[in-house]
Amino acid sequence: MPIISSYGRAIRIYARKGREWALKYVDGTAADKNGKPSRFRVANRWLKLLDAPFLVSSDCCDVMKKSPVHKYQRETGRMPFTGTLACESQLRKQAWMRTGCNGFAAKNPTSQPMAFWTENDVLAYLVDNDIEICPVYGRIVKADKTEADECPKTPKYKLTGVTRTGCMYCGFGCHLEKEPNRFQRMKETHPKLYEYCMRPVSRGGLGLDAVLSFADIKH
Ligand code: SF4
Repeated sequence: MPIISSYGRAIRIYARKGREWALKYVDGTAADKNGKPSRFRVANRWLKLLDAPFLVSSDCCDVMKKSPVHKYQRETGRMPFTGTLACESQLRKQAWMRTGCNGFAAKNPTSQPMAFWTENDVLAYLVDNDIEICPVYGRIVKADKTEADECPKTPKYKLTGVTRTGCMYCGFGCHLEKEPNRFQRMKETHPKLYEYCMRPVSRGGLGLDAVLSFADIKH
């Protein structure tokens, strides 16, 4: 079950090693494999996931996204272009600073030709070229300028709908959302999918009602 965050991965590992071991990640005394203080921290409130009647992980990303792409790469010899931006995460920024847009010498060669764009660049490009976007993002409207604008000449834009999308049923990060959170919104906009999502696995659903209830996430 992909809920909370990449803690999920950590918690899954903790679950194998036991509670004592997991507690080190709460009080900050855990070390990584090089003996340095681990960057992973688990909030006390999520320790209960050790006792959850379900497993928490992001393995679905490997099964549904990474493995099929790697299989395609092996079978065709083709390498991927991706639309990821360096500004999306510290990890992506560091990767871009290491290799630039074309990591051809990497173990898994990829090209990220948009890596140096900002999210505002993307919106400005869509507006300038009158490109239609998926309705779930709403409309692109002018936003207030901020001091953080990298390029004062580029108008600042924002979306009126959701700003990021992923798998519709993914629970990563939903505990940080203001209400209505993604599941509460899904209930209104996609009631049939919501019902499928919440229905117990034994009745052909995804069983998220029990999972979100266990984690005290409103839905
Ligand atoms: S984005 Fe999709 S594949 Fe990735 S963890 Fe969430 S549900 Fe799984």
